[in-house]
Amino acid sequence: MAELRVLNHPGQVARKSASKDRLPITVHLAAGLEKIGLAMKSRSWRREGRAGLGPLQRQVLALLRAKPDQSAQVSAIAEELVVRLPTASEAVATLERKRLVKRRRSMRDGRIVTVELTAKGARAGAPVAGMPNQLAAAAGVLSSAEQVAFLKGLMKVIRALQEQGEISVARMCVSCRYFRPHQHDDAAEPHHCDYVNAPFGDPALRLECAEYEPASISQARESWERFNRGRKAVG
Ligand code: SF4
Repeated sequence: MAELRVLNHPGQVARKSASKDRLPITVHLAAGLEKIGLAMKSRSWRREGRAGLGPLQRQVLALLRAKPDQSAQVSAIAEELVVRLPTASEAVATLERKRLVKRRRSMRDGRIVTVELTAKGARAGAPVAGMPNQLAAAAGVLSSAEQVAFLKGLMKVIRALQEQGEISVARMCVSCRYFRPHQHDDAAEPHHCDYVNAPFGDPALRLECAEYEPASISQARESWERFNRGRKAVG
């Protein structure tokens, strides 16, 4: 017990720095992210979520909203959200009961069923409406600089999970064909989005963008390196 107290007390970490048992910060970060994930799944959060939507239902709506024709097959939804097909089907069925999506059988091939967003579903799936108020409020306690650092950190973690095959699709700027990192000298708005043809800064980096289109593997790799090197090294 005494040993545990020593290891968990931040003020005593320096004295115990040689300890083999001291956990790396990545373990604490993972535990923190897990805690947030568990909170999002909690019953109270589900109950209080906008329109009574659970996390997976919100993700399905956000995914459909990001599609050009606001529709997708259930198998594609399952693949993109990295959930099993029955889990995705169940979420879609619940959303259909709430009239937030509707299923339509293809005229060309009756075996293909697409899920389409309804007007009500598009409103419920809007980024601000879909985000749990508690999470946005919690992120609001961070300073502006902390928010940007957190955003960039999340982006890196999501990208690493993508490389591990844990997340199949992330509609983030860093892998978007329209992203031009560090194109401008303006430190406040160094990046450029070709889609809207406008500069933007780190606080506006997107983790989920409706206009996203995937870059080629080589462009995405180049963008990532350029993004991390920054303007000075870009020359
Ligand atoms: S289209 Fe969206 S994801 Fe792509 S660069 Fe512009 S803001 Fe980023």
